Amino acid sequence: MSNTQKIPFVDLVSQYRGIADEVRAAIEPVMATSRFILGLEVKQFEQEFAGYCGAQYCVGVASGTDALYLTLCALGIGPGDEVITQANTFIATPLSISYTGARPVLVDCDPLTYQIDVKKVEAAITPRTKAIIPVHLYGQPADMDAILAIAKRHNLRVIEDACQAHGAEYRGKRVGAFGDAAAFSFYPGKNLGAYGDGGAITTNSEALAVKLRATREYGQAAKYHHDFKGFNSRLDTMQAAILRVKLKHLPDWTAARQRAAAAYATALQRIGVEPPRQVSYGTHVWHLYIIQVANRAKVQEQLTAAGVATGIHYPIPVHLQKVYADLGYKRGAFPAAEAAADRILSLPMFPELTQEQVTYVVDTLQRCA
Ligand SMILES: *Cc1c(COP(=O)(O)O)cnc(C)c1O
Repeated sequence: MSNTQKIPFVDLVSQYRGIADEVRAAIEPVMATSRFILGLEVKQFEQEFAGYCGAQYCVGVASGTDALYLTLCALGIGPGDEVITQANTFIATPLSISYTGARPVLVDCDPLTYQIDVKKVEAAITPRTKAIIPVHLYGQPADMDAILAIAKRHNLRVIEDACQAHGAEYRGKRVGAFGDAAAFSFYPGKNLGAYGDGGAITTNSEALAVKLRATREYGQAAKYHHDFKGFNSRLDTMQAAILRVKLKHLPDWTAARQRAAAAYATALQRIGVEPPRQVSYGTHVWHLYIIQVANRAKVQEQLTAAGVATGIHYPIPVHLQKVYADLGYKRGAFPAAEAAADRILSLPMFPELTQEQVTYVVDTLQRCA
């Protein structure tokens, strides 16, 4: 293979080529009927996605961020409240808490699996704490039994941030129905991605599902009858039609990611780089494939020069972001999250990644060492 070969970080173009006919057939009826807002396909997708997650209800919304935000609102969380999440998550998790007027309270992560460190959660609880948002980060589940036990002891709500973990299993059950609700993102690069923004909430609570359906539509219980100040945040019919097509392929795509991850692990071990640590209690759906390297800037530069796209998820933990200076956390507050942020490197990961491409990435990495 030549050095001019380009390996993208994700390859949505080649995925589209494989399903183009199905996608075109699915969106044509949406245009033909022109029911662009809350059309039939939204309801169909909601039923199918609830079924996929093993949850009773699903409510489609405009994004993963809104899925978190609307859920917090529907649970009555607002100014004066505190919501616990982890320091190494994507910024959308704490932002959704801030939008409600509540305060994000951060907890460190496990240094090996990057999931919320359940041993540190209880120390972060105060009389103001109303909820915990564990993030199923990078595609692996958080330790839900431990989190649910803490929530029960302190009478807290639990919202799973499942935006990176469609189909990941915790003790044999898919994420999405463990807490009061779960938030999913269908951002194009996610494991189940739309062709634009989209999101959904899954829950087993009928009351919460009903409240969320009103919340996403101007707070109306019936057309033009507004009971509270809701939002305009709906999953587009067109996106729902595309997501129905893609959901059928998701189990195969997840299996392909798992094969690519296994190929990476074998190749990395050969060159003495430790593969990502997997949790003992669940399955990984490999939204991201993250290794640690000491001289990251140099490694990333050389991979880029060799045509290998990489990422860093995320270079700055939440408590060190400028936007959250007002939370008052100092450097050193979350040592595991901070240490990881300096060393993590995300390698290309997508279902269409071939064994040849994996070999090329790892061979290039070896030359960087
Ligand atoms: C992507 C993501 C979100 C937000 O989803 P959007 O659809 O981009 O709004 C929230 N949390 C996590 C962990 C994510 O990865």
